[in-house]
Amino acid sequence: MSENKVIVANKGMVRADFDFWVGRYMDKFYDNFEKKKLIGNKCQKCGDVFVPPRKICGKCNIVIPLEENWVDLPDTGILKNYTITPYRVNDRSSRKTKPQVLGMVQIDGSNTAIIYRLLNIKPEEVKTGMKVKIEWSEKPKGDPSDIKGFVKM
Ligand SMILES: [Zn+2]
Repeated sequence: MSENKVIVANKGMVRADFDFWVGRYMDKFYDNFEKKKLIGNKCQKCGDVFVPPRKICGKCNIVIPLEENWVDLPDTGILKNYTITPYRVNDRSSRKTKPQVLGMVQIDGSNTAIIYRLLNIKPEEVKTGMKVKIEWSEKPKGDPSDIKGFVKM
């Protein structure tokens, strides 16, 4: 016995506005942005410190409890790597007139790196290993945009 079905397909763009919850670990991480404070969490077995925080240490494969092992971190770090791009971060279809520098920064006291824009740095001045510092937004809201980027120290 077979049944014929009509499948309708529409081609086109769909605009979807949405909010999503980042989870308990990232929620705590971003809540601290409101105080212009950076925190990470530490694996109780190997001692690695994660920024952003992680629920599970990939090396030890154990859960880092949500209530414990948080560490306060400074807003300074080392530029581990970078790229120079003419594209906007949030809208890759359009180019900026000036190329921007995106950096992978390892916060001092952590074992991982976060990616943000490097501000007020000319592409020819960028070097891996340079010391950088967070530039916080004037009115933090508790989201990723509270960090405007990193500046050279
Ligand atoms: Zn570990």
